[in-house]
Amino acid sequence: MTRIPDAPHEVLRIIERLEEAGFETWAVGGVIRDALLGSDLGDWDLATQATPQEVIGLFRRTVPIGLDHGTVGVLGKDRTLFEVTTFRKDIETMGRRAVVEFADRIEDDLARRDFTINAIAWHPLHKKLLDPFGGEADLEARRLRTVGDAGERFSEDLLRVLRALRFAAVFRLTVLPETWTALCDATGQLDILSGERVREELMKVLGGDGSPSAALSLYAAAGVLEALYPELEAEGEGWLDALVTCDALPASQPILRFVAILEGALEDRSSSAPTSRNAAGIMDRLRFSNADARLVSRLLDATPVPTAEARPADRRRWLSSVGSDLVGPLGKLALAKARARHVVAGADTDGVIAAWRDVRATRSERPPLTLDDLAIGGDELISLGHTPGPRFGDALEAMLDRVLEDPALNTVDHLKAIAVEVLGSPGASDPGRTAEEDAE
Ligand code: ATP
Ligand code: MG
Repeated sequence: MTRIPDAPHEVLRIIERLEEAGFETWAVGGVIRDALLGSDLGDWDLATQATPQEVIGLFRRTVPIGLDHGTVGVLGKDRTLFEVTTFRKDIETMGRRAVVEFADRIEDDLARRDFTINAIAWHPLHKKLLDPFGGEADLEARRLRTVGDAGERFSEDLLRVLRALRFAAVFRLTVLPETWTALCDATGQLDILSGERVREELMKVLGGDGSPSAALSLYAAAGVLEALYPELEAEGEGWLDALVTCDALPASQPILRFVAILEGALEDRSSSAPTSRNAAGIMDRLRFSNADARLVSRLLDATPVPTAEARPADRRRWLSSVGSDLVGPLGKLALAKARARHVVAGADTDGVIAAWRDVRATRSERPPLTLDDLAIGGDELISLGHTPGPRFGDALEAMLDRVLEDPALNTVDHLKAIAVEVLGSPGASDPGRTAEEDAE
């Protein structure tokens, strides 16, 4: 028996308005699937007979979200945005996003959807379920299958391969044999997908509900990793560690989870190329933002958290070298890796926990860690009579180096003395230069 929760008031209002104007309108897609599963509901998406222009004409506040795909955003009174999309059918498919045309019947619209579980419509006013492909029964039996011929559906849009594996993992569905075989056969063509779509799917895997390891293991089993991420070595303990580490990290930090995967699986034993360089290839191909690419490469290149046996000065040097924005993420990563080692190999986590506790203690002392934290800077060196020049940088670095070793040295007097060691006395000629250079 179908138990779909009442639609939000605004959804009912939108449907009423469209139907009064003569346009059949249904709730469709993920929200109906999630409702049948009894999971938390995402956004309510509507499919309608009305064209985008007709939708725009019927509501006071609309947003043209994707008019060429037929999608208009209708703003509810509470300012939430509901997507209302004209019934569509595919007219041309080439393995990528389909070219669509508006359709008159909800049945056509459902037929172009990817999996039976995603091809169910619900009418919130009539309380009627339209399920022409048996999606509800598949959900109940925990089965995933395509709408129609699996081979055709995957070759129409290769993104469906990745979606299938994500849905199977998140909802714990068994991919039925015909769908599984067609899916594996299609992996060879995955390279025609745009980097953006592949990345968005990956981010859904890493940032969504459930454990990313489930979807990533299916990626590996189906040959998707080999096709899309040939740099990754999905085998052995390194891979297992990577998966468990990834699961142990928060879903709110998909990039950090990605780093865990890269760290565990990128070790290219055949070359001495640094891990971050291989990562850069993937990030570039998947069109990650420069900010994300840079973050990933900094995290991969960062030196490990100092052990509990390290000296306090080593901890300060580490904090100084990795930069304040990376300290938290590196700690999370180290703890998640230790937990994974514990799960996979029974290793003890105490050492890493102690090391991290010490780093936090050192950081809470707020020691000077950057040039900005020094008691004097370049301007003061000038006002003390030193001649500005390229050796100022050396002097400042020398001061920071000594202050990292001993924070008590961060006083004007001590730093002045260090500056004199490097630059010579104010006004005197630069001891770093030879007589010949001075003569030039
Ligand atoms: P999620 O939002 O968790 O990815 P979803 O099912 O809501 O799940 P959307 O990408 O939001 O997925 O798409 C909404 C609906 O549109 C899907 O339920 C499905 O019916 C249809 N759909 C989306 N992408 C495709 C595709 N590539 N091929 C066929 N149908 C699709
Ligand atoms: Mg959705």
